[in-house]
Amino acid sequence: MNTKKTKFINCKKCNKIIKDPGVLHYKNGYPCLICKACIYKELFDNDYNESLVKKWCKEFDIPFLEEEWNRFLNLAKEKVDFSEPFAYMHIPPFGKYLAYMKLHDWINFTYEDGIELTKWREEHEEN
Ligand SMILES: [Zn+2]
Repeated sequence: MNTKKTKFINCKKCNKIIKDPGVLHYKNGYPCLICKACIYKELFDNDYNESLVKKWCKEFDIPFLEEEWNRFLNLAKEKVDFSEPFAYMHIPPFGKYLAYMKLHDWINFTYEDGIELTKWREEHEEN
């Protein structure tokens, strides 16, 4: 994690100089040193593989909750033509999910909480 709030980042992956809104931020407001486009592209290129999504949830310390995640993924699948160039930048599921997890209902939930919450939900499921 970056140690200071900076206006620009030098993306560790594509090596471009990036500023907002091309940068994702941690819950404490610090920028991620890999740019938004690189993160979205990696997820897209890996077909939103669940373990990769979890890796990024862990990086941003947000819970991975399958049901919530799938809502954003399905929305993108419905609305975006994935054969278009830069399709990964349109209604980006991870960006939408990260923003959602920063809202007040979820902001205090960590990645570890997500694992426990998933278990808890399974145990409390009816039927
Ligand atoms: Zn980049």
